[in-house]
Amino acid sequence: MNKLKSMTIPEIGVILKELGQPAFRAKQIYSWLHKGVRSYEEMTNLPKALRDTLQEKYPICAPEVVRKQESQKDGTIKYLWKLSDGNCVETVLMRYHYGNTVCISTEVGCKMGCAFCASTLGGLVRPLKPYEMLDQVLFTQVDSGLPVSHIVLMGIGEPLDNLSNVLRFLELVNSEEGMNISMRHISLSTCGLVPKIDELAQHKLQISLAISLHGPNNEIRNKIMPVNKAYPVEELIAACRRYYDKTSRRIHFEYAMINGLNDSPQQAKELLALLKGLPAHVNLIPLNHVEESPLKPSTKAAVAAFQNLLEQGGVTATVRRTLGSDIDASCGQLRRKYTQKR
Ligand code: SAH
Repeated sequence: MNKLKSMTIPEIGVILKELGQPAFRAKQIYSWLHKGVRSYEEMTNLPKALRDTLQEKYPICAPEVVRKQESQKDGTIKYLWKLSDGNCVETVLMRYHYGNTVCISTEVGCKMGCAFCASTLGGLVRPLKPYEMLDQVLFTQVDSGLPVSHIVLMGIGEPLDNLSNVLRFLELVNSEEGMNISMRHISLSTCGLVPKIDELAQHKLQISLAISLHGPNNEIRNKIMPVNKAYPVEELIAACRRYYDKTSRRIHFEYAMINGLNDSPQQAKELLALLKGLPAHVNLIPLNHVEESPLKPSTKAAVAAFQNLLEQGGVTATVRRTLGSDIDASCGQLRRKYTQKR
């Protein structure tokens, strides 16, 4: 189902050839699918007979909005979508000065087990198909009426645990005949799957790579991120250096500030030492409190002091604005509440 929406134009061309159709139809179908149509009836430049055949062989399905919440504070919109198999994923639309940004999910659930994250509480259900990632961007744009210019792969799931589908999604969303979103406007965030970082580097994409670091050493990371036991922090940073050597893209580090755990001046200094010589940007994220977790956000003063120390040490650091805090906009919270209620 929806096979065509995960395909490139040449691949659709092969299917059309089998149906005895001219090659130019592939591009027409591709561009309709990438506009977010819900049925072949909308493809008005295709012959009726072809529309009927496609409907029968390759039915189009699109996600349905189960919940839509709009922040009164900052216009952030959060969608909970129902996929064709009944599973739900979340997408968040954020309005930044440089453009509307969608944060998409890459898997239904997650198996990474980070202690502070709501997305992983129920484990991994399944990875998303390329078109299911594309649909989140398309239908957020269609439903909100707001043009999307930036994408972050920072919703539910671990993108590098679903790398081949993510790579195909990036190819689709970047294509000129599709949404034509520049790779430079796309960020991919990972908890640190080292071999997959190396694999991604081989593709030399112009996307931004973000690493969920959250601690400057193994002791802290082991406490909150089980992935660190497989790929300790020194191996992770070595992989980041290799990634930079291959792509010349500065690495972004996300650092969720957790009260009393990773937010001391000593830890800021450790972080500086860890990142020494690596072109890096640190994004400090005040922890979003998750009901099931005992971890609490750092104080504003601790965040500011940490940021100052990084800046003084020559590493640019920004504090992420907390958008949509009135609508459960952080990772996996809405899906969790919805699936628990059923
Ligand atoms: N699996 C990927 C991408 C999804 S999570 C990754 O780990 O990077 C996107 C970001 O939100 C990650 O940096 C993650 O660690 C962070 N995050 C998850 N729960 C959070 C919370 N409660 N407060 C602050 N940041 C959180």
